Amino acid sequence: MEKALLGDKLTAFLELLQKPVSSEEELAKNVRMALECIAGQMKIGKVEVCRFAPDSRLRAQIDRHTVVLYQSDALVGDDALELTYRSDDGGAATLSYYPVKNYRWEEEEQRELLLLGNLILWAFRLIIMGDLLKRTATMDLAGGIPNTAGFIGRLAGVIAQGRIEHYTGFYLNTHNFKYVNKVLPHQNADEVMWLYIRQLLSGIEEDECVARLGGDNFVALIRNENADAFIRWVSDINVRYKGDSEEKVFNFGATIGAAQLKEIRNPGEIMLRISSAYQAARQKEGNDVVYYNEELYKEMMRQKEVIGEFHRGIKKQEFVVYYQPKVNTQNKQLCGAEALVRWRKPDESLVPPMAFIPILEKDGSICLLDFYVLDKVCAFLNRCIREHKPLYKISVNFSKRHVENPHLVNEIVNVLDSHRVPHELIEIELTESEDAKDYIVMSNLIDKLKAEGISVSVDDFGTGYSSMNMLKMIHTDILKVDKSLIPFGRFNSDNQKDCIMFESIVSLAKALGFQVVAEGVETLRQYEYMRDAGCDIIQGYYFDKPLPVDEYLNRLLFGQYS
Ligand code: C2E
Ligand code: CA
Ligand code: CA
Repeated sequence: MEKALLGDKLTAFLELLQKPVSSEEELAKNVRMALECIAGQMKIGKVEVCRFAPDSRLRAQIDRHTVVLYQSDALVGDDALELTYRSDDGGAATLSYYPVKNYRWEEEEQRELLLLGNLILWAFRLIIMGDLLKRTATMDLAGGIPNTAGFIGRLAGVIAQGRIEHYTGFYLNTHNFKYVNKVLPHQNADEVMWLYIRQLLSGIEEDECVARLGGDNFVALIRNENADAFIRWVSDINVRYKGDSEEKVFNFGATIGAAQLKEIRNPGEIMLRISSAYQAARQKEGNDVVYYNEELYKEMMRQKEVIGEFHRGIKKQEFVVYYQPKVNTQNKQLCGAEALVRWRKPDESLVPPMAFIPILEKDGSICLLDFYVLDKVCAFLNRCIREHKPLYKISVNFSKRHVENPHLVNEIVNVLDSHRVPHELIEIELTESEDAKDYIVMSNLIDKLKAEGISVSVDDFGTGYSSMNMLKMIHTDILKVDKSLIPFGRFNSDNQKDCIMFESIVSLAKALGFQVVAEGVETLRQYEYMRDAGCDIIQGYYFDKPLPVDEYLNRLLFGQYS
């Protein structure tokens, strides 16, 4: 017996088993052929393998299945010879040999069969592990759904089948997970995420797909006819969660970017469309859905171009600082200026800040620009000192994106000191933040700047997110009332109401001890009104537009408006 096995048949068996394969099915086919080589000699009636895999985040369900690897034509006995392999995660694979009817293997034969059985199980183990590895690379383990790579693979498959037009692509950012993370411990928040994803999946069809990009960002591929229902579904998902305490219900909505998928050549185009749509949706407020269109794409490209150009422009020093005088309301004396940036393009055209600052704000590059401006302002003040020009305070706008920088105050102080500019010659203009939590950070920042002798003003007061509460919480000395609140302007429709609002803001600010600056004063009438309402300082076209540095230097020599 042994002699025969060690001969050609064993060689053929081993060769078949070792052939490279790419799937479990292929391996099973080779194993069947390998078993066919030895079955007659070894009196094998049937061979099967039963696999058991526990549930895990890679497989959402327990997986148990039996595969018949070999079945002879002869009748089969029922006394099996079994061999089991157990894995660390509680999984197992059992290989069972059944002899042909009325045959019993001798001990020697049993040993041989078990040895070969071990080789078969090893071959399966290798292919399963390889498969697992592939899945790990394409799966989001914490969510149990595909990750970006998995999603892209899926898109490539549907594109290759020529069916991509039948689907709508989505990019979703789920609302409310910040809150969940705040109220639940980390692990429980993960469980809520897991439940949320199960809920999400329960609303889609078999051929549709939801994948997780990371955090609370998801992408999805949904059949066109289901797209509207999907939007309604993800806009209002309730997750019931019972941790250690009483049951909580979390409601989730989403910001949604969607794209129809006509004329798609590769997955990259889909990702670009849905992320552009999402970016646009994010700029709106609330549970908005934005569908991709050509315009949106062009706008995205324009923004990208501005950011690219910006970095080149900074290197080439294309940004110039203009100075808009501030005037004391009572005696019409010049008392300072605001530094306002312009972009002088190589063709000498002058680009106003509103054409690029909002884009740089989004991207964070604004921080670089603000320091560039501060540096130019300090160089200018240093020149005034050296040339014995009259010295007035200059205010510089700092975006709220800086609030995230813990070294901000040091970095500002370093710029001032490197130009030997006395700190009291600089004022930093900050706008308020939407988030009350940021008040604390902002008020710390203001305190630190003030401790350095640098003054701080709150810009655009009365718009956006300004709240009365902020006046109490932060210790600035100067409020700049936004120009939209100035009565008797070109666009004001109800001057009486505007006056009531404006006067109450001014009297409140004055009562709280703030110095009040009014911006956007364009006419004599407005000037007189501001003066009588109690504004301390005026900045506006009535006195001066923002001036190039040389013109501003000229103004310094007069210092008095008529
Ligand atoms: P802002 O800080 O509110 O600056 C005042 C804006 O009002 C300036 O526009 C100024 O030219 C304009 N203005 C002043 N007086 C009048 C007036 O009488 N009538 C009218 N209609 N407008 C008046 P500008 O220079 O176009 O700047 C726009 C915005 O760009 C600024 O608004 C500020 O938010 C931002 N910005 C400008 N330079 C910088 C900078 O260096 N850094 C940052 N972060 N933002 C800047
Ligand atoms: Ca300003
Ligand atoms: Ca302003």
